[in-house]
Amino acid sequence: MLWAVTTGQPRSRRRARRTRFGLLFTLGIVIALVVAAVIVLRPAGPRPLFQMPVTCGETWQVGTYPGHGEYDVDFFPLSGDPWGQPVLASYEGIVTVAGINGSLGGRTPDNPDGPRGRGGGYWVKIDHGGRWETQYLHLLEPPMVEAGERVVQGQQIGRIGSTGNSGAPHLHYEQRRGWQKVETFFDGTPSGITVDDAEYTVRLTSNNCP
Ligand SMILES: [Zn+2]
Repeated sequence: MLWAVTTGQPRSRRRARRTRFGLLFTLGIVIALVVAAVIVLRPAGPRPLFQMPVTCGETWQVGTYPGHGEYDVDFFPLSGDPWGQPVLASYEGIVTVAGINGSLGGRTPDNPDGPRGRGGGYWVKIDHGGRWETQYLHLLEPPMVEAGERVVQGQQIGRIGSTGNSGAPHLHYEQRRGWQKVETFFDGTPSGITVDDAEYTVRLTSNNCP
């Protein structure tokens, strides 16, 4: 009986050790669950003073359309060539994602009606602390920032494009509290873009100024 030879301890002591290990293991799991619950359930911090993700002083068409998704916002410039216009960080934070969501497709300035991709295409996600986050989708090229990088408000993170599931060059933008999308606020004012049961657009001027 090999097991008897390898330990050389009375069976009762081994059983006590096994019981102690079981208790510690259970305690470890309970602590892990409590920590996870605190992280998930902790209240969000105050709303950051988000600014529009486009150049200071410019007026853009901001809106939604049926089936878009609650609180989702699309930005279209009212002047100039939309392709390549700067996309700016709405608020300071840490970049958590900078890459490709879904697939890129083939819509470029030279081939605007090329094959549609899937999802967000080139995109960026920024964590602003207090469980607040912003997302920027359909960028033209790989983002100008990397995951883990700290950005300041107004810093350029990419350029307007039409990668992913996009009909025309524009910026799809979201503000989230926890994992929930919420109504977008710019410069402290709610955008009014909430439900997606009808087409709705407003003209807003960016105060994302240095
Ligand atoms: Zn959109």
